[in-house]
Amino acid sequence: MNFATPIEKLSISRAYQQKLKRLGIQRVADLLFHFPHRYEDFSKIVKIKDIRLGKICSIQGKILEIENTRTPRKRMILTRAIVSDDTSAIKVVWFNQPYLIRVLKSGDRVSLAGKIALAQDGIFLSNPAYEKLEPKGDLTHTGRIVPVYPETEGLSSKWLRRILKPLLIQFKDKIPETLPEEIIKKEKLLPISQALWQVHFPETLELAKKAQKRFQFEELFFIQLFVLREKIKITNEKAVSLPIAKDILMEFSKSLPFQLTPAQKKSAWQILKDLQKPKPMNRLLEGDVGSGKTVVAAIAALNTAKAGYQIAFMAPTEILAQQHFQEFSKLLKDFNLNIGLLTGKEDKLISKKLKNQVIEISREKLLEKTLKSEIDILIGTHALIQDKVKFGKLALVILDEQHRFGVEQRAKLVARENRDIERKIPHLLSMTATPIPRTLALTIYGDLDLSLITELPKGRKKIITKIIEPAERERVFDFIRKEIQKGRQAFVICPRIEVKESQEKWQTEMKAVKAEYEKLSKEVFPDFKIGMLHGKLGLKEKEKIMQDFKNKKIDILVATSVVEVGIDVPNASVMVIEGVERFGLSQLYQFRGRVGRSYYQSYCFLLTESPSQRTRKRLKALLEAKNSFELAEKDLEIRGPGEFFGTRQWGIPDLAMTGLKDIALVEKTREVAKEILQKDPELKNYSQLRERLKRFREKVHLE
Ligand code: ADP
Ligand code: MG
Repeated sequence: MNFATPIEKLSISRAYQQKLKRLGIQRVADLLFHFPHRYEDFSKIVKIKDIRLGKICSIQGKILEIENTRTPRKRMILTRAIVSDDTSAIKVVWFNQPYLIRVLKSGDRVSLAGKIALAQDGIFLSNPAYEKLEPKGDLTHTGRIVPVYPETEGLSSKWLRRILKPLLIQFKDKIPETLPEEIIKKEKLLPISQALWQVHFPETLELAKKAQKRFQFEELFFIQLFVLREKIKITNEKAVSLPIAKDILMEFSKSLPFQLTPAQKKSAWQILKDLQKPKPMNRLLEGDVGSGKTVVAAIAALNTAKAGYQIAFMAPTEILAQQHFQEFSKLLKDFNLNIGLLTGKEDKLISKKLKNQVIEISREKLLEKTLKSEIDILIGTHALIQDKVKFGKLALVILDEQHRFGVEQRAKLVARENRDIERKIPHLLSMTATPIPRTLALTIYGDLDLSLITELPKGRKKIITKIIEPAERERVFDFIRKEIQKGRQAFVICPRIEVKESQEKWQTEMKAVKAEYEKLSKEVFPDFKIGMLHGKLGLKEKEKIMQDFKNKKIDILVATSVVEVGIDVPNASVMVIEGVERFGLSQLYQFRGRVGRSYYQSYCFLLTESPSQRTRKRLKALLEAKNSFELAEKDLEIRGPGEFFGTRQWGIPDLAMTGLKDIALVEKTREVAKEILQKDPELKNYSQLRERLKRFREKVHLE
């Protein structure tokens, strides 16, 4: 038996094999690396006479008697026992486990661990973990620090311990070390075999921590190694060197209805300098919602198009692609460019020959023009990375809200057949409004150079944000009324589309878009125009509603999270978010960013039906954070990285995720990975690391 042995070869019943497989556990290695998420400290064994009420305690003694009884109302079977040691005796009660009397017999010596509770006739040990004391046996479930595994798929911790312990004993000292010896020594990490034992059956909590730390170090180290190698690989590639078209850019800047902020200028300059190099740019443009990233992207696109090359601009949703198409068409109208829109359904083209008119053309035509380089800028959704889309002279790829795209998609756009004959690959500009905590920036985004737009355009006012108790809802409606009478508009965000009868109460309590729309348009604001926007509408409908909202034909837009990213309606001044507990902090932050996009004072109201402690804590963070970076750190702290960007899976092990909270550890692993790569860029002397990286690539999808 070895690490790769399939679990079918172990003596595990079929039913349990299935359960394990549902957790993704296929091989012995997966089982050994299924770690506990916490520990129960049963290590201190007390004498029965010293037992105190309310404490968790471990005792060892002999069963004097044991029997099943029924509770008076006959609902529950109690197994009652008396256990004594050399100091005293205590009652023990188990609930609804009648089979216990077949396992534990009077006269047996047992080890028990559990909580001391109080009944009418005195204290008793309630529902304790138990195991028989064997003459030479080692304890597994009691009398020690006991691992507790996430209990999913009907796999109990007890069952896992029973399976894992003999496996671990069998593998002891036979586990191949996965980190280079030099790193283990230098960083004083536990060697793998020790760490694996201590993470499951620790001697002390301190050792458990040390073991976890070793695995966190390892996971993070591999992410770093992976990301840094990608970075090196990219710098070894060639790209088109695009000259900086100073005159045209000056002209563009003058054509804008506003002045670029210093941060926009600086970012644009960094990008232009990158584009000038014969090496591919790999840059992330990060700026708060409303900080004006689109203009910066337009500068990069204009410069690229004027050099005679093409730009692909990918957005995460159709609405957003549509909006970028319009925005780019407007911004670049005097510059004689062909801009195309390619989405799932309809395709459009702005043609210079038709004096900036928008015409609809067939997909074939659009693709043909793209291939012939007659389209300068092709804007679209995921449709852009379909195999059919081929560019003639692609030199720049822009990704909006890039954290929504997988690295694979990015690689597809950047690399595929879009390599030109000289084997050059396009430059890459990613944009995000999701503030990235420093640890993530250093790991998951560690291969990107960073440009920050740190300030908002002049004249923007701070958005007044308030948590609203259910009883105060009416006042919010009154407030919206006043704002609309002043000429402003409002968003109302709800977590779901419709209420279904079969749903649980907590689900029906969540404001559904359709219900809310009915209520607002019929009861609350019959005199205003209300619109509804959600993902199930067709593109045409969505487009029309967004257009109507932009053109003030709609006063209040009731929507799902489809408005989360990018939507730009500067006249809107009120954002109401229902069911805030359903959304992540960075999502809420994004919603809020839909208002406050011009000089009007804007407001954000956060509504919740059942404000839990955790919800309150998170909302407080949203209210208090001085800037988006601080907020991101808080979000990471409160929810953990797994939830940070919503529910999407990265495929990163949980331990690495937890490790991401530890900036010192992240920096350390980066440093160590750098050192190794400096010494040995091809990892010639580290075949094991090389192998592991290859597998890593297949497994992990960094966003
Ligand atoms: P985001 O960074 O969230 O993508 P946008 O690019 O959509 O932000 O810009 C938000 C709004 O700010 C747009 O209406 C845009 O025209 C405007 N804007 C951008 N830059 C400036 C500036 N320097 N001064 C004033 N308004 C600006
Ligand atoms: Mg944007």
